[in-house]
Amino acid sequence: MAHADEAAIFNKDEAKVDWHDKALWFVRQKRDKSAHNVQGWEELRNLASALKANVLSNLDTYLLQFEENAKKNGVTVHWAANAEEHNKIVHSILVKHGVKRMVKSKSMLTEECHLNPYLEANNIEVIDTDLGERIVQLAKEPPSHIVLPAIHKKKEEVDVLFQEHLGTKPCDGDPQYLTGEARKHLRDKFLKAEAAITGVNFAIADTGGFVVCTNEGNADMGVHLAKVHIACMGMEKLIPQEKHLGVFLRLLGRSATGQPITTYSSHFNKPAPGKEMHIVIVDNGRTEQLSREDFRASLHCIRCGACMNTCPIYRRSGGHSYKSTIPGPIGSILSPGLDLKKHSSLPFASTLCGSCSDVCPVKINIHEQLYKWRQIIVKEVPQPGVKKNILKIAGRVLANSAMYHVAGKSARFMLKYAPRFVIYSKLNAWGKARDLPEVKNGNFDDWYKNRKKNE
Ligand code: SF4
Repeated sequence: MAHADEAAIFNKDEAKVDWHDKALWFVRQKRDKSAHNVQGWEELRNLASALKANVLSNLDTYLLQFEENAKKNGVTVHWAANAEEHNKIVHSILVKHGVKRMVKSKSMLTEECHLNPYLEANNIEVIDTDLGERIVQLAKEPPSHIVLPAIHKKKEEVDVLFQEHLGTKPCDGDPQYLTGEARKHLRDKFLKAEAAITGVNFAIADTGGFVVCTNEGNADMGVHLAKVHIACMGMEKLIPQEKHLGVFLRLLGRSATGQPITTYSSHFNKPAPGKEMHIVIVDNGRTEQLSREDFRASLHCIRCGACMNTCPIYRRSGGHSYKSTIPGPIGSILSPGLDLKKHSSLPFASTLCGSCSDVCPVKINIHEQLYKWRQIIVKEVPQPGVKKNILKIAGRVLANSAMYHVAGKSARFMLKYAPRFVIYSKLNAWGKARDLPEVKNGNFDDWYKNRKKNE
């Protein structure tokens, strides 16, 4: 189904849509306040964007440098061309160590590769330890947001879910009780896990180390207790030097939730004595995106989620309506690069207001890239006949002033006098949720001529 149809499902529950919209707007406002408290915020954004552009222009060099340094630190480095290879590599490491139970902190890359179902099909228990991720895992749903995976769920729904899966008592959605119960449940899983998987927020080329940012400390807990640590990273996650971390860490927390810094910014450099550390570097379509001049800047993304929180379409359609691992404005640029036909409706799920580009900490020109995809899609993906014909007629009318004049007059007449069921028909998708503005007498042309006459 196209995004608009998926969004219509989410929109059936109006109260939930309003609440979802408000909750995300609240996060967006927190981001604004936090950003305004930093002197030189725009300089930071410029710097981050320039650093990422440098990384992408020299990606081969930085990747090899990172691999060399990580190996020197005693880390095993693996390369995966696609999701399938990634999953096989992770599985083979787990098999080598006889792992049957493992914990995982939040990693959008492993979501992208569908690692959980792959491992579960191979009889390995995977427990997501980020609270939001655990909630959606219990609900058998994908995350709906990259930073707030369960933002589409109300606390009362979590209450029912925990009663069903964790045997908790009904509590009217008391967050303190629910988090306490989740802590007990997860602690047990941490203690029994034989391996821990984490994502990678920033990989540092000149040290071979990497940083994982969480607000719950779950990545650290998993890694410190398990004997094997597997870190899965997209190949664009590199930064050149450790000193550049300050730029990105200041931007990430503030852009994501309005916090000055993510609560835990954990540095991993080498395995602890007697333990193993692996890094899996994944391509999965990134090289191809890099080769697309108009879209390569989308690889600057540091997955802060700010573009989602500000997007009027995302806020009122929910993350699941995108049917893609990364939803929202940035997902609508990345997903068509992976499967143009399947995700062809996503670049149209935008007002092109540019708010996403305004808040993006690494200055990705998101709305411009969405517009570029639209231009490609209308040429390469068959469009509905009605839409094509209407646009063809509109093109002719707009190109001819006499026809434009007549069409304007007829439209004004129709909007005033035609019965409502004619105007608000299937052809007027806009009218599904709102009334058209009242039509004024006359048009700009007449008004201008009259004005000139009376001067
Ligand atoms: S595109 Fe920019 S705003 Fe959106 S998640 Fe990525 S870094 Fe954040």
